Amino acid sequence: MKRCEVCGNDYENPFEVKFSNDNKSHWFDCFECAVHRLAPNCNECGVRILGHGVQVGNHFFCGAHCARLNGHKEIVDHSEKIFSQ
Ligand SMILES: [Zn+2]
Ligand SMILES: [Zn+2]
Repeated sequence: MKRCEVCGNDYENPFEVKFSNDNKSHWFDCFECAVHRLAPNCNECGVRILGHGVQVGNHFFCGAHCARLNGHKEIVDHSEKIFSQ
């Protein structure tokens, strides 16, 4: 039985998260532990990114707003385009 790599629990129904780029396996007993270990933090405000977010190079942002605060002026939200029309 695989133990959760965050809390060590040996829950009877653990699940595996595997990344396609390095084929590394991560085992967890719950989504909260998986998020704690794997979800990136916004490079600007520090919030955990659970949705799509924005990636610029190796930096992750929670959205276009934070990407622009970090100097990436070219990043635009689709929603901002709609509302400015
Ligand atoms: Zn856990
Ligand atoms: Zn942010």
